Amino acid sequence: MEKEHIYLDYNATSPLHPQAWEVMKDILSDNKVAYNASSVHYFGRKGQGHIEKARKQVAKLVGANANQVIFNSGATEGNNTILLHFAQTYPDETILIASGQHPSIMESLNILGNVRTIPIDENGIVKLDKLEEILSKDTKVSLISCSYANNETGALQNILELSSLAHKYGVLFHCDGVQAAGKVPINIKESDIDFLTISSHKIGGPQGVGALILNICGQSPSLLFGGGQESYLRAGTQNTAGIAGFGASADAALSGLDEYQELGKLRDKLESNLKEISPEIIIHSKRVPRIPNTSFFSIKSMNAQNILIALDLEVIAISNGSACSSGSVKPSSTLKAMGCDEETASNSLRISMGWATKESDIDRFLHEWKKIIKRINRA
Ligand code: PLP
Repeated sequence: MEKEHIYLDYNATSPLHPQAWEVMKDILSDNKVAYNASSVHYFGRKGQGHIEKARKQVAKLVGANANQVIFNSGATEGNNTILLHFAQTYPDETILIASGQHPSIMESLNILGNVRTIPIDENGIVKLDKLEEILSKDTKVSLISCSYANNETGALQNILELSSLAHKYGVLFHCDGVQAAGKVPINIKESDIDFLTISSHKIGGPQGVGALILNICGQSPSLLFGGGQESYLRAGTQNTAGIAGFGASADAALSGLDEYQELGKLRDKLESNLKEISPEIIIHSKRVPRIPNTSFFSIKSMNAQNILIALDLEVIAISNGSACSSGSVKPSSTLKAMGCDEETASNSLRISMGWATKESDIDRFLHEWKKIIKRINRA
């Protein structure tokens, strides 16, 4: 009998939500027409209609106006666009990035010349006093960039405090909202975020679609040149079906936001059971507010990669930290930035749930986990 598949890796990518699938299917299934939203004919206008509807849906998810949303290919593009824009526009000024973020932010340290990190504490939270120290000494800072929620630990930053501090020193604030949008309420205006990056495939939309949301006048960050799509800020034929699917997934995420918080109870159940089975477990960022779907933990004495493989044989998908580095077994850079030793950072595992996760998935995971740990302990 085929084993039941259990998917617990939503922070890497989420299964397509039925609402997203419905709208995409409608757009893609007619093979006699195509929707280039820049075309003036009927089908172009119809494509434009799909995109403008999605723009409103995505804007609503984060408390923005539709005209603030610039669609693109995803959050890597959104993050790169902002960092490159500031590096090129203000070459003599520094960009400050919080430590331990996604590689699409952290790699700027190797690519751009004027980037510096802001330290984080043992829970992964930005040290505001250290940030203020840097800002008060170095007056030439153009941008501060910090993610809303960490992709590995799920820890939520103090976003309003960060944006207020940035603005106190006349610095603009960019926030990578990928792992928070659709998981906790976000309001770009109330949080005074100048630039927000989000991604469709983390909330049940298709892959290869995202948005950069602008909440400030006088800055026109743009990576690609060519056509005048997306108010001349993102050239290239728009991905009509993908954007429509993104819009539908944003709509579904917003209406399911209250229910989504229930995942926090499943996460707590999971963690208390894990602690019972393996008392030496270290659950990261447990003492600070986290997105409800994520648990990131280490068991020093065990090889996380072996556990991951043993679970995979049972067709249970979890992750050892960020998907981008899970092909090569590297210690978690987030945990290292949080001050964890090499062994703890190397033996970490992440469970991330989502819109289709059921309590029985967690029960089945725990059942297999117990068996695997018993086997390892006997060996
Ligand atoms: N930022 C964070 C926090 C992420 O978790 C990810 C994906 O894992 C990205 C950015 C990159 O998103 P995308 O896959 O849309 O390029």
